[in-house]
Amino acid sequence: MDLSIVIPLYNEEDNIKNLHNEITAAMEGLGLDWEVVYVDDGSADKTFDLLREVAKEDIKAKVVGLRRNFGQTAAMSAGFDHALGKVVVTMDGDLQNDPADIPMLLAELNKGYDLVAGWRADRQDAYLSRKLPSRLANGLISRITKVELHDYGCTLKAFRREVVQSIRLYGEMHRFIPAIASAVGVRIKEVPVNHRARTAGSSKYGISRTPRVLLDLFTVKFLLSYGTKPIQLFGLWGLATGGAGFLLALYYTIQRLFFAVPLWGKPGLILAVLLMLVGVQLISIGLLGELQVRTYYETQAKATYTVREVLNGESKR
Ligand code: UDP
Ligand code: MG
Repeated sequence: MDLSIVIPLYNEEDNIKNLHNEITAAMEGLGLDWEVVYVDDGSADKTFDLLREVAKEDIKAKVVGLRRNFGQTAAMSAGFDHALGKVVVTMDGDLQNDPADIPMLLAELNKGYDLVAGWRADRQDAYLSRKLPSRLANGLISRITKVELHDYGCTLKAFRREVVQSIRLYGEMHRFIPAIASAVGVRIKEVPVNHRARTAGSSKYGISRTPRVLLDLFTVKFLLSYGTKPIQLFGLWGLATGGAGFLLALYYTIQRLFFAVPLWGKPGLILAVLLMLVGVQLISIGLLGELQVRTYYETQAKATYTVREVLNGESKR
């Protein structure tokens, strides 16, 4: 299989038929062996029924039905786990991304990149609630992760299969795939893509997603920089303050014991105690961080979603 197109869908009943037709039209004449992996993220409308119809008519349409709504990122992971293609393309199911852009992304990938990211240069969304927060977030993410893209939030992206397989996603993490991937040496290219206004169904997000994204950004940054060794970050600091406190305390003890210098009126004594306490606490935080990182890597093996039913393919969970 050359290509898998992965699409998470949540209450998109009015878009499914058009979506599948547009994709089929875009793939025509490329001579590729391709599939679409539609992931129904626990929709409450007729999304799954319509996907069943599409799957019945077209063997290229694989459908993964999740047990409940797990969120776009988990739905994308489900799609990655069920994709068979050497190349994986992700896009939204609301037709805001244009399937006609896919051949162009594939051509870029073939120039020697591992990840080609779409950039909604002319984004068709509300300014105040969507474009402005995302502009601020993009600036922040690119500064913090040092992976410079204009548009992290654009779902339309093409990946070599190894890239998506090497990454476990949770939270709102899908937008950070380029940052995580670049840390392991993936070659990234960003290209402008078409963006259209939503004509059917409604957006699932608003400004409320921002804090969640920022929290994930912090996690990503932490894992990228200190990921394997938080103890080095906190521990050294703790050793330094704790050590200074201990030496001060030792100094006062010797003075008191051997030279009978009274301890009254010595503010340095308080400092010594404080420094020792802070040192112990920082070292403990480092240890906890160390445990936390281990737990993080452990849980990567566990799925962030559960599958109810798979059509035109085998369930991987
Ligand atoms: N989506 C999903 N699960 C969710 C929310 C959204 O699978 O819990 C899908 C949705 O159906 C769409 C894509 O994720 O295909 C992007 O969602 P939306 O268009 O609402 O986001 P926006 O374009 O407004 O950022
Ligand atoms: Mg959309």
